[in-house]
Amino acid sequence: MSNSRYDVCVVGLGPTGRALASRCASAGLNVAVVDPRPDRLWVPTYSAWVDELPAWLPNSVIASRIEAPTVWTSVERRIERPYAVLSKTELWKAMPLDGVHIEAQRATGLTARRVDLADGGTVDADVVIDARGLPPVAQRPAASAHGIFVDAEIAAKFVPPGEALLLDWRPENGATNDEPPSFLYSVPIGDGTVIFEETTLAVPGGLTQKELRKRCVTRLAAHGITVTGDEPFEGCHYPLDQPPPRRRRADEPIPFGSRGGMMHPCTGYSVADSLFLADTAVGALKSGTDPIKALWPVKARLVYWMRMRGVAGMGRLTTEQLSAMFDSFFTASDRGQRALLSEHADAVGLGTVLVNTVAHTWPFRWRYDLVGWTNRNRWADFKES
Ligand SMILES: Cc1cc2nc3c(=O)[nH]c(=O)nc-3n(C[C@H](O)[C@H](O)[C@H](O)COP(=O)(O)OP(=O)(O)OC[C@H]3O[C@@H](n4cnc5c(N)ncnc54)[C@H](O)[C@@H]3O)c2cc1C
Repeated sequence: MSNSRYDVCVVGLGPTGRALASRCASAGLNVAVVDPRPDRLWVPTYSAWVDELPAWLPNSVIASRIEAPTVWTSVERRIERPYAVLSKTELWKAMPLDGVHIEAQRATGLTARRVDLADGGTVDADVVIDARGLPPVAQRPAASAHGIFVDAEIAAKFVPPGEALLLDWRPENGATNDEPPSFLYSVPIGDGTVIFEETTLAVPGGLTQKELRKRCVTRLAAHGITVTGDEPFEGCHYPLDQPPPRRRRADEPIPFGSRGGMMHPCTGYSVADSLFLADTAVGALKSGTDPIKALWPVKARLVYWMRMRGVAGMGRLTTEQLSAMFDSFFTASDRGQRALLSEHADAVGLGTVLVNTVAHTWPFRWRYDLVGWTNRNRWADFKES
């Protein structure tokens, strides 16, 4: 039982909960956190566009920087926007929990001002933040990926040093056009390995690790790289459609991070946006105003709504159609690309780029699938063989 009453209690110490707790503490708030394993370093490899990272993070959090990552559709394109793989240890160090009260256990119940703990105790706070991450996928639009870490020297024949493949839609993974699409994502991690991650985005229920690994191995083989089976690997499978909170409710905690609508429905990224928005939440908490209103102005809600239309469209396309759609998207202006990929509240930029992307996708009839007039639930009943 914690006897004090805290200004803020953050439940969940993923990167976003830790960021918010740390920023609250350094702003002078009296903070408690709850997580069953508060000292465990996060498992996934996190990446982001360099310009998305908040100014309070030191440069040391960048483990690997790629000046202009490559996108492959029917053609090869360089995206002139620096991209980074984050160092988890440096990110951790950059978000200290000095002076924060830590409860190393599971929360069993959350309300707006109280957290029930597994040992029967409670933490009372003026504001409770729910940063417990995402619920299970079920048949929701999903991000599923299987990534194999390959020694950089071996990887060089596919992804040379200093380069990265953000999206590789070349049909080299052995899947047919009648199966849910997946692309390759490949970046140097900064530890002498390059991750090759076969990824599917937006397909309801996603794909299994077995299927994604098979596709990844096939794709590597197409570039002369044989996997031994001893390489480290990582996997992910999470929903893309976790919505932002509608409004502040007297009896509910405030969701933040991937739990609170910051998971980008079309990219599966949430870390950089959440880190960036931590100070917006801190500002509201310090001034006693509503953090939900500060985090989710109308334009940001509109952006979220449009991205949900985007993920629905992506989730019914074939590999050929997605390649054509991204061909169209990557001809957009720098602003248009950013509006889709990362800006939290550029509703005009996003609306424009979505309309233009549909309008420039060829052949013409594929636009009907994109907007859902035809093949609306193409992959809904797909069963892997
Ligand atoms: C392999 C992989 C690669 C990824 N790559 C990227 C990427 O490159 N860029 C990106 O932006 N995103 C990436 N993601 C998505 C990423 O996981 C999430 O964006 C990020 O972890 C979300 O952070 P979070 O803090 O919101 O939630 P989480 O990281 O899920 O953290 C939730 C925390 O809550 C705690 N918790 C849960 N239940 C309770 C409870 N009852 N009581 C107390 N604590 C609880 C958990 O222990 C955990 O520490 C990737 C995900 C995976 C799996």
